[in-house]
Amino acid sequence: MNYVKIAADECKGCRVCVSVCPHHCLMIGTQINALGYQHAVFHGFDTCTACGLCFFSCPEPGAITVFADEKEAPHE
Ligand code: SF4
Ligand code: SF4
Repeated sequence: MNYVKIAADECKGCRVCVSVCPHHCLMIGTQINALGYQHAVFHGFDTCTACGLCFFSCPEPGAITVFADEKEAPHE
């Protein structure tokens, strides 16, 4: 299963990842993080393709980590 881990306290709640995800896997939640922002939340366990668009578009290093299911990852 592909999934995305959000480091809640690294997120500034800018919504860029929410906007770029082609499968609507991310949303801004209601909880406030240590920086005082409502942070992104991943809810795309059935739909995430591990494309990495959220990771590459996030302005905060370390806020997003994408995990690809080994069975679905391309093989060299
Ligand atoms: S890896 Fe791709 S499909 Fe998965 S949450 Fe990020 S943008 Fe969406
Ligand atoms: S793009 Fe990064 S900083 Fe912006 S809401 Fe998403 S995880 Fe948070």
